Formats: sequence, structure tokens, C-alpha cells
Amino acid sequence: MFLTLTTTHQPATDLGYLLYKHPDRVQEFKQSFGTATVFYPEATDERCTAALLLEIDPVRLARSAGRITPDFSLAQYVNDRSYAASSLLGVALADVFSTARSGRCDTRQEVADSAIPLEIVIPVLPCRGGPKTAHRIFEPLGWQVSATPVALDERFPEWGASRYVKLTLTGTVRLADALNQLHVLLPVMDESKHYWQGTDEVDKLLRSGEGWLARHPERELIARRYLGRRSALTRTALTRLAELGDDVEDALEPAEEEEIAQPAERRESLNVQRHEAVLSTLLDLRAKSVIDLGCGPGQFLTKLVREPSFTRVAGVDVSSRSLEIAARRLRLDQLGERQASRIHLFQGALTYEDARLGGFDAAVLMEVVEHIDPPRLAALERVVFGTARPGAVLVTTPNVEYNANYEGLTGMRHPDHRFEWSRQEFESWAGRVAAVHGYTAQFRGIGDVDPERGTPTQMAVFLRD
Ligand code: SAH
Repeated sequence: MFLTLTTTHQPATDLGYLLYKHPDRVQEFKQSFGTATVFYPEATDERCTAALLLEIDPVRLARSAGRITPDFSLAQYVNDRSYAASSLLGVALADVFSTARSGRCDTRQEVADSAIPLEIVIPVLPCRGGPKTAHRIFEPLGWQVSATPVALDERFPEWGASRYVKLTLTGTVRLADALNQLHVLLPVMDESKHYWQGTDEVDKLLRSGEGWLARHPERELIARRYLGRRSALTRTALTRLAELGDDVEDALEPAEEEEIAQPAERRESLNVQRHEAVLSTLLDLRAKSVIDLGCGPGQFLTKLVREPSFTRVAGVDVSSRSLEIAARRLRLDQLGERQASRIHLFQGALTYEDARLGGFDAAVLMEVVEHIDPPRLAALERVVFGTARPGAVLVTTPNVEYNANYEGLTGMRHPDHRFEWSRQEFESWAGRVAAVHGYTAQFRGIGDVDPERGTPTQMAVFLRD
């Protein structure tokens, strides 16, 4: 199994720093199923290529921890594993380049953060569904895709194509994103499980998919194949993806050409229910000016600006990338002067005092507090309730008790969550904050009610005394 990764970013040898692998060395990494070798066939300032070669030991593969193939047969030992890139290459890649995959680079952080020109070549990749599938899966991520069927036997062209393709991906992509995409998408292309999938597979999928999977038009196909067609896990993954990002309705739409074991019921997503609950509370409060604190990519802002009763709408977030998406989503550049002056987006941290946060009738903190490191939470409380002091503050956050209803969820709902509260923990936090800063807090559940565990989302409405 073989994969090469080339950049023409200058100086191209930065690739060695980004991957934490020196271009002058050949390095071996033992895997439970074989040996991964990293070396650089070329390393100049103009062009640098890192190669990952994975040699499978079929006996070790068959014996390595966990269940690899469901049957005990000769096929475990005699198969295409030694030649064809597969899920195992995805596993080795994730292991060997784990730091690069996290996006961290102590010596070249600005390069690690940037999209750089990359070319990835996998000479033999099993591809269920043929080249068409490769295009469907990689093109929405910004890759230019070339997928050429590999002949069954070059000497006998009349035998036709094998189920393998030669895949070349060309694009300008952040290296960490490219590695995470390959980690998820190699097993998706291959679609056979060569390693045991534990219950934390959904968590792993969401972690590796951060920043690109939630908006991928083929996220359902990807999740279903990655999770070995286990429909309960797939539904959990899609629900959680939808909570993270956009358009749950689309996510639950069956992808064409793919049969669905159990059609996912189309139901109103939690995201939508949350937006409606917060919006209707703001309208009941007759707020005229509203600030969305930690607005993210602006999904809720689009709902706020549609309401003419809000004369002033602001959004703040620490992430400038999210704000750019929000500005595009709100079409700020196409609005007339009057509309545009109603809306204000700005970058800021909720843990630092900022005069721009003041002067609003109501503030929304939707799914934000759980992203704050616990030692910084007191700073946010001071800034929002002590200094900005809007007439009302609406806080939503997950109810951790409800997590037991998400099959396959072992950790928290989102990899970036620093904590998730039970109803009692949330109510005691809110009660204390209200008492300290002169507010009164009321509570509401959002989403389907479980008689014992409550609702998936909990909301506190703080009114200034
Ligand atoms: N409110 C949005 C986004 C929730 S995700 C929604 O409900 O869809 C949490 C958001 O909080 C992210 O966009 C993140 O960038 C932002 N955030 C986290 N810590 C922050 C801080 N200290 N200051 C400002 N924004 C912060």
C-alpha cells in the first residue's frame, strides 16, 4: 500500500516540519498489522514529496487485537491487502502523522494553518462504486480529482477494469484537513472493515470530520460507509453533525444510488427547535436590540435579521473564519444601506471586557458556555452579566443526562466541549450567576422529552431585576 503527498509551497521542504518527519531520513513505524515506512523521494525547495509505504503482515493482521474479519478462513491470509491501499492505510496515516493531523506545528504554525498546494497520489485504491464515487466524495472538499480505473491485467485489456482506481487529488488545502479527510475517506472508498469498530467510532468520525464533514453533501454516504452501515450509529452521527452545522434536512435525505438500511425519519432537527425556542422567547420579551454572543457561522443571525421587530442585531465570535461565513450567509455585501446598518458583526472574546457588548435589550449565548474552559467561565460571567448587562440573557447548553439516548455516543457531543452539565448542575450555575449579578433565572427544556432524562437541550432565561 502506497501513498505520496507532494507540495509546491515554497520552501517545499517545510513539509518535513509539518509532518514531523525529516526529509533526509527513512523512518519505520510498527503497526499492529504491519510496518509503515515514511521517506521522501524528492525534497527540494520547489517540490517536496513524502511517501508512506505500508507493508502488511497478513499473519499479524489476522491475529492483531480485536476482530478483523468475521470469518476464519484462508481469505484472511490470502487477499489483496499487501497491494491495495485501504482502511489500513488510513489507520497508519492517522497514527504516523498524528501531530500534523491535529494541525499543530511548533516551528511552522502559520504554514500549518494555511491552505497550501498539495497533490496526493494513491496508485491502487479499491473504490466501491468506481471513479464516480471518488469524484462525489472528494470534489466537494475542493480537490481536483483524477480517478483512473486500473486494468485487471495490463496484458489482457479485454478483461476490463478491476475494482481499483489510481487516485490523484490536487488542491490547495490545509495539510491537517487533507490528512483527516484521507483518514476518514480511505475506508469509505474501500468500504470493508479491516479492523474492529468500537462504540467510539462516531466520536472518531466527528473529530476527524471537524470543519469539513458537517457541510459535505455526501455526509450521509460517508457516515454510513465509515460506520460499517450500522444504521443506528449512522443516525447518531448525522444527528450530531446536524447539531454542529448546517441543514439537517439535507443530511437526512437519502443519497441517490445508495440504499438505506433503515430510512432515517425526517424530523425537525434539534438545531431548528433550539432556534425557534430562543427566537420566540426574544419576541415574547419584546426585545428590540439583540446580540448573539458566540454566533458561530451565523445560522441564528439569519433568523434574527428576518424579524423586522429587531431594530439592531449584532453577532460576535472569537473565530474570524466563522464570522466570514456569517457575513456571506447574511449577504452583508448585497444589503442596502438601511438593512446593513441594522446588522453588526465583530470579532471578540467573551472573556474580555468590551464596550461593544453593551447596550442591548437581550443577549443570546446559544451552545457557547460549554466551549469555555472552566477556569475562564467566571470571566465570561463577569463580562456578560456584570459589565454588558443586557435586560435579558438566554443561555442554552446540552443536558448531559440526555446523552444516554444517543446510541454510540461515549464522550461528549462535540469534541470541543469542555464540559456538559446535568439539569441540576446547570440550574445551580444559573441560580448562582443570577443571584450574584442581580438577575432572575427561569428554565425550559428544548427538544424531545425523555421522562427520566429530560430534553436534549436546556435553556435558562435570565431577566435583569
Ligand atoms: N451560537 C452558535 C455557535 C455555537 S458553537 C450556534 O448555536 O450555532 C460555539 C461558538 O462559540 C463557536 O463559534 C466559538 O468560536 C465561540 N466561542 C468559543 N469561545 C469563545 C469566546 N471566549 N469568545 C467568543 N466566542 C467564543
